Amino acid sequence: MPDFKADCLFCKIAAGQIKADIVYQDDRTVAFNDINPQAPVHVLVIPKDHYATLDDVTDRSIYRELFDTAAKVVELKKLSADGYRVVANCKENGGQAVAHIHLHILGGRPMKWPPG
Ligand code: 5GP
Ligand code: ZN
Repeated sequence: MPDFKADCLFCKIAAGQIKADIVYQDDRTVAFNDINPQAPVHVLVIPKDHYATLDDVTDRSIYRELFDTAAKVVELKKLSADGYRVVANCKENGGQAVAHIHLHILGGRPMKWPPG
C-alpha cells in the first residue's frame, strides 16, 4: 500500500513529524517551501500517500490532486502574471533525489531551457 513509508522524508513532512514551511495543504496533498530554493519562489507539492516515483503511481487521481494544489500555489504566490515552471524529476537521469513523488513550482525569475 502507498500510504506511509516510515523512512521517507516527505512522508514524515506530510505527517507533521518533520517541520516544513507549509504553503497550503488539504486532505490529499501538501505544498511547502523547498529547503534549498532555486528561485525566489520554490514550492514542492506532494501527495500524502507514498509513491516513490512517477512510474509507481497506481491511483491516477493523484495527478489531478497534485496539479490542483499546484494551481493553488500559483494563485497564492501570484505567479500567473509573469509565469512559472512546474517540474517533476523521475529517477536517476531525471535528477530525482527524494523518492516520494513531488512537483517543483518555480517562479519569480526567468527560467532557461533546456535544463542542464
Ligand atoms: P528532487 O531532486 O528529488 O526532484 O527534489 C528534491 C527537493 O527536495 C530538492 O529541491 C531539495 O532541496 C528538497 N528537500 C530535500 N530535503 C528537504 C527537506 O528536509 N525539507 C524541504 N523543505 N525540502 C527538502
Ligand atoms: Zn514517502
